[in-house]
Amino acid sequence: SGQKVLVYGLAKSGVAALRLLCQQGASVTALDARSEEALGDVAREVKALGAALVTVPAPPGLLESQALVVVSPGVPLALPELRAAAAARVPIWGEVELAWRALTSVPLFGITGTNGKSTTTALTGELFAKGGRRTFVGGNLGRPFSEAALTPADWDALVVELSSFQLEGIQSLRPRGAAILNLTPDHIDRYASHREYGQAKARIFQHQHDGDFAVVNADDADVMALATQARTPVYGFSVTGRPVVDAPKLAGLAVAKDGGFRLEFLGESYRLDNRALRGAHNAQNAMAATLLARLGGVPADAVQAGLDSYPGLPHRLESVRVLDGVEWVNDSKATNVDSVLVALRAFRDGVWLIAGGKGKGAPYAPMVEAGRGKVKGVLTIGADSELLARAYEGQAAVHACGTLAAAVAKACELAKAGDTVLLSPACASYDQFKNFEDRGDSFKRLVGAL
Ligand code: ADP
Repeated sequence: SGQKVLVYGLAKSGVAALRLLCQQGASVTALDARSEEALGDVAREVKALGAALVTVPAPPGLLESQALVVVSPGVPLALPELRAAAAARVPIWGEVELAWRALTSVPLFGITGTNGKSTTTALTGELFAKGGRRTFVGGNLGRPFSEAALTPADWDALVVELSSFQLEGIQSLRPRGAAILNLTPDHIDRYASHREYGQAKARIFQHQHDGDFAVVNADDADVMALATQARTPVYGFSVTGRPVVDAPKLAGLAVAKDGGFRLEFLGESYRLDNRALRGAHNAQNAMAATLLARLGGVPADAVQAGLDSYPGLPHRLESVRVLDGVEWVNDSKATNVDSVLVALRAFRDGVWLIAGGKGKGAPYAPMVEAGRGKVKGVLTIGADSELLARAYEGQAAVHACGTLAAAVAKACELAKAGDTVLLSPACASYDQFKNFEDRGDSFKRLVGAL
C-alpha cells in the first residue's frame, strides 16, 4: 500500500496483477509494448483503476524508481531494462509471486511439465473439490493466480498450473505439493538449452521445506535428474512399472495397472474408466493428480469420485458424439506430431484420422508408424495435405479433403459402427482457423449437425 509498483505486460495475468495491486492501494504504473489505442478496453480499465499507462520504451529511470516491478509471464526477464532495474536493487517478481504473497497461509499445489499441465491441474482441482475443499484452479490455465489473491479467505486449497516462464519469476512461492510431469524439448526460442529449460522447471522445488512433498514422473530420466534438487520426500508415478531410479530412493510410487493404477506405498487401488482420461498419458496425469490430492489430505473415496466425474478439457481427446456406433473425437489441441502419437496410443483400432493444417516441419513418419494397424484412412485438410499424403503413401488410404467440412462429410460416409473419427491434426490451425479452439469448435459444430 502506498508504494510505487510497475506492472510490465498487460495480457491477462498482467491485468489481474494490476487489479490486485490497485486493490491493495499501491501507486501503479502499467507498461506495455502496445499503444493506448491498441490496448483498447485494457487501457480504459487501467485509467479507471487510477493507474498510469506507459508505452514501451519506458522513459529512462522509470523502472529504477519503483519499489517493485511485477512482470507478466510473456515478458522475458532478460530484457535490458529489467536487468538494469534488478541491478538497481528493485525487486522483480513474476505475477504468480505477487499473488502468492497474499496467499501464503493457503496450501498450494503446483503443476509443471512440458505436456499435460492443464489436464492435470483441472483434474487435481476436481479431486480437491470432491474432497470438500474450496479450491482455486488456475494459473497458466484459465484464471490468473492473482484473481485468487483478491479474496484470500475464499480458499482452502490452491491448484495452480505453472509454466516455466512463470517459475522464472518466483522468489518465495512455496508449493505444499510440487509436480513435474515430463520434460521434452520446448520453447527453444526462449531458452539457450534444454538444461536451462529444465532448470526453470526445477525452481518449483526451490522454496519447499519440511512437511512439503514432490511428485515426479519416475519413467522420465530428465525429470528424475531434476528431482535430485527437491528438498522434500519425492513420490513417483510410472506407467512402465520400471522407474528409472531404484524405488527405495522414492518415498512412494504409483504404478499403472490394467484399468487403473495403484499407490503401492498406501496399498490403494484406483479405477480409471472415465472416457475423458483415456490413454497412457492420461494415466500419468491421473496418477500425478491423485498423489497431489492424497498427500494433500483428500480422502481416497473422494479421489475416486473425482476421477470418475472429471469432465475433461475441451479439444484434448474430447468425445464429441457417438452417432450410429461411430465415436467422434476432437483433439484439436494436437498441434504437433508428438501429440498425435499420444492420441493414437489411446485407441486400439478402427481410427479415421483427420489431420493437416500449417505444419511445423517435423517429419510425419512417426505418426504413420504409431498408426499402423489402427488407422483405416487419413482425411487431409489445409496446407500440409501434400506432405501428409506423401508420408502415408502405400501405408494407408488418403483422402484429400481440403476443408474440415469436407473431411467430416467424407468420414461420415466411410466410418462403420465401432470406428472412431479422430481430429488430431499434427499441425497449427492458422492457415484455415483463428486458433486450435476455433478449429475444434468448428469440428464440434459440423459433427453436431450430422
Ligand atoms: P499443457 O497444458 O501442458 O499444454 P494439456 O493438458 O493441455 O497440457 O495437454 C496438451 C497435449 O499434450 C494433449 O493434447 C496431449 O496430446 C498431450 N499430453 C497430455 N498429457 C500428456 C502427458 N502426460 N505426457 C505427454 N503428453 C501429454
